[in-house]
Amino acid sequence: MRQSLDDEVQYLKGVGPRGAASLAKLGLFTVRDVLYHLPRRYEDRRNLPPIAKLQHGAFATIKGQVTEVATRTVSGGRVIVEAAVEDASGTATLIWFNQPWIRRQLQNYRGEIIAYGQAKMGRYAMEIASPEFEVVDDESDPDEFARIVPVYPLKDGVWQRQIRTAARSAVAKYAGQVEDPIPSSILREQKLRPLAWCLAQIHAPDSEESRLEARRRLVFEEFFYLQISLALKRNANQGEIGISFPVKRLMEGVGEAAATADLFVAATVEAREPLRAQIRRILPFELTKAQRRVVAEIWRDMELPHPMNRLVQGDVGSGKTAVAACAMLAAVRSGYQAAMMAPTEILAEQHYSVLRRLFDPIGVNVALLVGKLTATEKKKAGAQAASGQAQIAIGTHALIEEGVEFQNLGLVVVDEQHRFGVMQRAAMREKSHASPDMLVMTATPIPRTLTMVQYGDLDVSVIDELPPGRSPVKTSVRTPQDRRAIYETVRKLISEGRQAYFVCPMVSESEKMLAQAAEELYARLSVTVFADARVGLLHGQMKRAAKEAVMEEFRFGAIDVLVSTTVIEVGVDVPNASVMVVEDANRFGLSQLHQLRGRVGRGSVQSYCILIADPRNDDSKERLGVMEATTDGFEIANADLRIRGPGELAGTRQSGNLDFKIADLVQDGAMLEAARQAAMRLVESDPDLSLGVHRKLLDIVSGRRTLEAVVAIS
Ligand code: ADP
Ligand code: MG
Repeated sequence: MRQSLDDEVQYLKGVGPRGAASLAKLGLFTVRDVLYHLPRRYEDRRNLPPIAKLQHGAFATIKGQVTEVATRTVSGGRVIVEAAVEDASGTATLIWFNQPWIRRQLQNYRGEIIAYGQAKMGRYAMEIASPEFEVVDDESDPDEFARIVPVYPLKDGVWQRQIRTAARSAVAKYAGQVEDPIPSSILREQKLRPLAWCLAQIHAPDSEESRLEARRRLVFEEFFYLQISLALKRNANQGEIGISFPVKRLMEGVGEAAATADLFVAATVEAREPLRAQIRRILPFELTKAQRRVVAEIWRDMELPHPMNRLVQGDVGSGKTAVAACAMLAAVRSGYQAAMMAPTEILAEQHYSVLRRLFDPIGVNVALLVGKLTATEKKKAGAQAASGQAQIAIGTHALIEEGVEFQNLGLVVVDEQHRFGVMQRAAMREKSHASPDMLVMTATPIPRTLTMVQYGDLDVSVIDELPPGRSPVKTSVRTPQDRRAIYETVRKLISEGRQAYFVCPMVSESEKMLAQAAEELYARLSVTVFADARVGLLHGQMKRAAKEAVMEEFRFGAIDVLVSTTVIEVGVDVPNASVMVVEDANRFGLSQLHQLRGRVGRGSVQSYCILIADPRNDDSKERLGVMEATTDGFEIANADLRIRGPGELAGTRQSGNLDFKIADLVQDGAMLEAARQAAMRLVESDPDLSLGVHRKLLDIVSGRRTLEAVVAIS
């Protein structure tokens, strides 16, 4: 029988159906699963310290004889198991709390045991609390105790020994035979060892150097496969037929070309004006150099015959809306519709009100489509989209709902991309008969490593400049004891005509609880400190009309202090608001705080951000200190990535691409870069991986694609 890494684990020596059932609890079904289930750490059992040498506070592995096992029940019925372990040098105590099965296992055991944990000086002897342990009995492999042993991640009901046996059999029988999917030329170029060697060494390293070398290769491999599939996706997209918008002609003013093409039925006098002149006419400001560069990149893409897939990254306040407007105008003037999708209704409404004001004067029709419209309103907006009468449709995910049709959708703009899933992006694309151009915008600055992973199939433009006249927001971290002074500062700013945001604590993920927290803060502030000011309340549980009314009042200065949940986190733009107070700031991620802070400092007045945090919370000090130190979103994102890890970075949680088994985005950034370069070169040289040496790679990445589809749908 041909051996394959997809063989079931039960056929591995020493595993069998029962072992397989245990391994299944860890999600290990195939030989590949076992080989890629990597040790969490290793224990060098070649020279274990004598018990007498244990040091207070240090992690250590000990080996000795169990001489006594005692069980106590303490208050609340909790069970404590204590085992005395002795070697030639001395005795230590192992202690487990409330793990009754350990009592069952050890009660009558008086043989040797190996235990790992942190040693602490106890009353009579050194103690190790909640140690990992293995009993050394007849079934144990004596080899285990004279080498570097892998320690695998476990779950209840699965034993270290079971995984070790499976891994050892898998390495012995399969590792030597697996065909390395990565061509040897690439291995040589990257100075990587072959797969077989690496798999053997990662499970049973000869030395620390070997282990690291093995890990390097497995990290590369993990990144490489992902980057190949992203490069293929990008390639496939470039081969697809999309819309070629006649942007160059629009820039020259369409003149008589428009008169003949009935694309321009709706053409007015303005429509024939050169594109840049129209833009200058509608925008109340000059575009920054960075905005102009990004608009040019977008327009160039729009002109190309394949669908655009471009990500625009720009820090909060860098002026992405204006850039989107330029792109949409080009689509509209080419006779197509454009749609813009925002993650919240508040933001969709804001875009609607801003863009309508821009486009009205030149006769471009903008419609709003959000979830909570009345049936009649929805029907009307839907009809406008379907007939093409709405040249620009702004909305939330209501835009991708069943039943919303477009007459000829040419451009889709997705604002605050990080809030949307891949599926939603895809659904939006489905709305068009042709393949529309796609522009995604994100204000969450993403470290380059994450961009490569999450958006590796997109082209990227960066707006790396803020509009002129902004002075950086002054940020300070304060304690709850400083409240009185904080309120004074805010009152003073209000008396000078400024407006303030108060963001309530992130009590939970539940909208309802958040709304309650906001209501409480509102009640407190509006009757006490700000009794003589106009205080407003905004949260996600309010009716649309009420939300809209509050936002509108705030925008027009009829509210001085807006108490809000994080619904105002993204995109909201009120230039006169110049102070942002965040309660319990340590509960927020840095990127989120950066977003919140981005709500102020949008006009020309000096703005302030005050983060209230309990100083007793130690690690928050380092984090919040970053906010005081810099206003650069990329720097903040890097710090967030370093401190909290990729999975926690605001808004990146949806990406399945971040679940690396081996690689670590923080630590392995350089490797990722190398893997990406190698993948792009490979796909360029062999775009459909049809060469014989790439056969295995093709298998892997196509398997990967089906996997991604499953993940995305479920
Ligand atoms: P974001 O990139 O965060 O979405 P917005 O598009 O909301 O930023 O723009 C932020 C603010 O800056 C808005 O008030 C907008 O009118 C203003 N703005 C954008 N571009 C410019 C510019 N080139 N010059 C002056 N103000 C600008
Ligand atoms: Mg925005």
